[in-house]
Amino acid sequence: MAAKYIVVANWKMNPMTLRDAKKLFQMTKKMADAASNMSIIVAPPAIYLQPLTALYKGQKVQFAGQSAHEAASGPFTGEISIAQVKNAKARFLLVGHAERREHGETNEDTARKVSAALKEGIIPILCVGEARREQSGSHFTFVREQLRAALQSVEQNAVTKIIVAYEPVWAIGSEEAMSPRAMHEMAIFIRKTIVEMHGAKGYGVKILYGGAVSEKNAGAMLKEGDVVGLLVGRASINPKELAALLTAIQEQ
Ligand code: PEP
Repeated sequence: MAAKYIVVANWKMNPMTLRDAKKLFQMTKKMADAASNMSIIVAPPAIYLQPLTALYKGQKVQFAGQSAHEAASGPFTGEISIAQVKNAKARFLLVGHAERREHGETNEDTARKVSAALKEGIIPILCVGEARREQSGSHFTFVREQLRAALQSVEQNAVTKIIVAYEPVWAIGSEEAMSPRAMHEMAIFIRKTIVEMHGAKGYGVKILYGGAVSEKNAGAMLKEGDVVGLLVGRASINPKELAALLTAIQEQ
């Protein structure tokens, strides 16, 4: 991805119909094509992945699965495999999103998924972030644990392929994003943790911020937050908000 910034559009469980998904995608695609400094990774519900990738032949938009099982196949009712995500023409996979962790995804699961995705040639977007912040700074220990667990069996050479999305759980779905200054501090910490595990190559890991991203905070976050992109939930399914957000990023 040569673009200056990465925007991940996490549609979560929206929209309701394929017709609306196609409409939202067409609008997103148009905006992405018009923007010169970013590439957009659309993460639609799995059921829309194949129909949407079939609509697009360009380079500006990429696709991600929102979640997938690490096994190649088997008795996992309701799951999709990483190979199926790949065959649907996605290049990325969200791993360990807070909303998956809330429903039981563990650090061990994220480790298996990161490894399986890399093996399959899919780039994991590893989501980490603490539920709350305390004076003691326990959020750093928490994030370090998530990173260590998920990245423990990744080979040194593969570590730069991984994208880390730092999403403090308390900011996801809330009104207020974290401050760019606090993000900067966390980005340094994330890099340091990965470098301790995997050596200097860890400095090359791409870091994104997610949590209540909007047109109001995107510019400052990219400028001062020490991140190369943003993971966007609500604003990515509202064409008006998305347009304003992408304009704000374009102005960076
Ligand atoms: C998310 O989906 O990870 C997210 C950050 O959501 P929102 O932008 O709505 O806070």
